[in-house]
Amino acid sequence: MKPIDLRSDTLTTPSIEMRRAMANAVVGDDCYGEDSTVQKLERVVADLFGKESALFMPTGTMSNQVALRIHTRPGDEVLTDAAYHIAYFESAQSSDLAGVMLNTCSSPRGVLDIETLERQIATKPRGGNYAQVRLIWLENSISGCGGVVFPLPRLREISSFARTSGYHLHIDGARIFNAAIAEGQPFHAYGECCDTISICFAKGLGAPFGAALLGSAEQIREAKRFRKWYGGALHQSGIMAAGALYALEHNISRLAEDHSNARRLALLLGHSPLLHVSTPDPETNMVYFNLRHDQITAAQFARECAREGVLLFPWTGDVVRAVTHLGITDNDIARAAAIISAVAHRVVKSAPHSSASITGATRIEGEESRCVTPIQ
Ligand SMILES: *Cc1c(COP(=O)(O)O)cnc(C)c1O
Repeated sequence: MKPIDLRSDTLTTPSIEMRRAMANAVVGDDCYGEDSTVQKLERVVADLFGKESALFMPTGTMSNQVALRIHTRPGDEVLTDAAYHIAYFESAQSSDLAGVMLNTCSSPRGVLDIETLERQIATKPRGGNYAQVRLIWLENSISGCGGVVFPLPRLREISSFARTSGYHLHIDGARIFNAAIAEGQPFHAYGECCDTISICFAKGLGAPFGAALLGSAEQIREAKRFRKWYGGALHQSGIMAAGALYALEHNISRLAEDHSNARRLALLLGHSPLLHVSTPDPETNMVYFNLRHDQITAAQFARECAREGVLLFPWTGDVVRAVTHLGITDNDIARAAAIISAVAHRVVKSAPHSSASITGATRIEGEESRCVTPIQ
């Protein structure tokens, strides 16, 4: 039987219909501005988010790195949260490519507020010889905190703070489609809050690749220059863009299914006394949990579950992540929950010191409200 792959929502494979759309795409050389499918995609996403322009990117990482580059100069500081992708996975790239420093806060559930930002800015003098804060960097949904939605009202507050204080604001919206569907808000509401936003087609939307950076015409002109520098200017990329267009047309509203599947998985796993679910009520498509047994690492537990046909992502320490996505059915959720619970039972019973550690009291109280990524 095919394993139930819950490691990430990037693990979808394109459907026959999506492949057909890609095969039939009208293409040209996008470096010559002649790929009408790429141009169509850029127009569609810019309009969707109420932005002037958009630029197709091969990956979300490149979109983020180019965004950093257009907003900052080397030596600038970028205010963000330690749980975000930019800090957790892209800190080395950010200092190497854009030459910036990430000044990270640690917010409850990754949802930054103005007070925290102000405090972080005031930790040293600014201007003159001191590092200048140029950019505020948010993420939505926040994957390192269990797919938390960055609430639109808070986003609006930070947006007006950034505007009045002269900081640029970027949103890493690799999963903005999940956030908007969960929050029931139109996409342009998020676009209006920021200078630029990165979106991804290869996460919940189920395309095999592609991302886009959205912003003003001037910012996107700058971005195009750096995309070329970074080796991301593609030629007949209409084939890629056609997959993204197909995904936008067919796979947005169904994200609600992924969210209800995640809630159901969290509920079912929560029934096991051996498992601690750190996201008991997921807002989008992620469930983070761990075995109530300190002798077993996330990697060991994931390996045991893989043997039984459920693939999980060992996040950090003892925490594993399950992500629901296109192609994961109701049935898969029930089966995955049963397998994970049975593996937990078997592993805990056969592990050393089992009786001492299954008390359920090993987790720190209040942990649910914090992020599951290690903060340092
Ligand atoms: C996946 C992801 C990225 C990077 O996207 P790639 O296409 O894998 O490079 C950036 N930010 C967030 C929040 C992501 O989840």
